[in-house]
Amino acid sequence: MSEVRLQVQNLCKTFGITKAVQNVSFNVNKGEVHALIGENGSGKSTLTNMLTGIYSIDSGTFVLDGKEIHPKNQVEANNEGVSIIVQELGTLSGLTVAENIFLGHEDRFVNRGIKNTSAMNREAQKLLDQYGFGRIRANAMVDDYNFEDRKLVEIVKATYFNPKIVVIDETTTALSQEGREELYKQMNRIRSEGNTIIFISHDLPEVLRMSDTITCLRDGVYIDTVKSADVTEDDLKKLMVGREVTGDYYRADYGEAVSDEVVLSVKDVTVPGQIQDISFELHKGEILGFGGLSESGMHEVGKACFGASFDRKGSVTLADGTQINDIPTAISHSMAYTSKDRDNESVVMNQSIRDNICLPSLGELTGFLHLLSRGKMKKFANEYAAEMSVKMVNTDQFVSDLSGGNKQKVVLARWIGKNSDILVLDSPTRGIDIKVKQDIYQLMDKMRKEGKSIIMISEELMELIGMCDRILIMKDGRINGDLQRSPDLDENSLIAKMV
Ligand code: ADP
Ligand code: MG
Repeated sequence: MSEVRLQVQNLCKTFGITKAVQNVSFNVNKGEVHALIGENGSGKSTLTNMLTGIYSIDSGTFVLDGKEIHPKNQVEANNEGVSIIVQELGTLSGLTVAENIFLGHEDRFVNRGIKNTSAMNREAQKLLDQYGFGRIRANAMVDDYNFEDRKLVEIVKATYFNPKIVVIDETTTALSQEGREELYKQMNRIRSEGNTIIFISHDLPEVLRMSDTITCLRDGVYIDTVKSADVTEDDLKKLMVGREVTGDYYRADYGEAVSDEVVLSVKDVTVPGQIQDISFELHKGEILGFGGLSESGMHEVGKACFGASFDRKGSVTLADGTQINDIPTAISHSMAYTSKDRDNESVVMNQSIRDNICLPSLGELTGFLHLLSRGKMKKFANEYAAEMSVKMVNTDQFVSDLSGGNKQKVVLARWIGKNSDILVLDSPTRGIDIKVKQDIYQLMDKMRKEGKSIIMISEELMELIGMCDRILIMKDGRINGDLQRSPDLDENSLIAKMV
């Protein structure tokens, strides 16, 4: 019989009129990876943020090893033996890697009121090396590293002190395959030491492979706890959505000819240190995929097409001869772009859903004397938020309050509202649950049929295979493979060109 580590008892949390967590109770055992699943907005992050002192608890209790805990912040949670790798960026800018790792625990390195920075750096570097992240330098500013490396720093920060419970909130979506493998190793280590992991992920095969037990939430309500060995992916989908998930997931057609009409022509594009001599043509009604490892340069290709690259050489030309060298030209010529780094580059967090959706369309939302019309903006935002079924109270709500999938819907609503003809979608379904994913795939299929053209950049090979007319595989900044849509394509044929 496994021993209980954590009892979640009658937990509740509301935000305004949103009941984010409603009377949730379940147990988590010692020495297990306990997955928490549920659609976007089902309350997973709210629950784990309460456990780790990030949010206050409205009512209910957490009992850890038989003792009630009430952490008021993350440091107090650490002291109780609970840590978290948060869904959003969890490191602080302006601090070094070492300062981030030991944030709140600096007193370990203080002697007679003086902080021994070099001892702290040494200790942090030792940890980074042990974890196999030695290329990250303890004394460097954390800002010098990209999103993924900063996530690796967070993994060290959350696990080096052998906590009793580590919460991993959708970290894997930010990681490349190599980063994931590192995380899995740490998860296995923590479990083998008899400690517990609460693992939040939308990647159901990953959930089934990595977890022992799975608890499902839906709309803030507890649904069920099951043993991973006893369930299939379809069982989990049904638990999450509350009904059988039917209909085509990806687009279903094969052998449809793509139009000859070229809408975007990319020629000899180079961004120093990132991509080299990239040339391709995007056709009307085509979904053109870019795949590769996360550092292959594929994300930069998207930026380069949208005129968002720094120091780009070569040309990006529309059918009418317009050269795309900057973002305003791209937007005014019906191009759209969604970034992989949604929180930092796509949404304006501290603004309302309404303002976010209206942003690229402000020119069309003016009234008397060319002043912005509040009424038009409201109507516009409501229309496209509804079209994307954004889960919200109303469009005055701040984007920072939304769950990841709903933020992505806001980003997409903005470009659908703008009625863009060419969409560059970088990781459009990153961190999004199956139902919203299916919505996005269907939307892409609809847009394609309407003659819109899409560049889809993704680290998920299955969605590239499922959605694209043609897939270009990037390796070391260059195009290394060119695969046509076919029912015979499998992940291995793509991987062969990636590594
Ligand atoms: P999940 O992590 O399962 O995707 P969340 O716990 O982030 O879901 O969100 C649950 C619900 O609570 C959502 O409706 C979300 O919009 C709302 N919510 C989460 N955090 C906040 C917040 N800080 N302010 C207001 N509403 C929030
Ligand atoms: Mg979440």
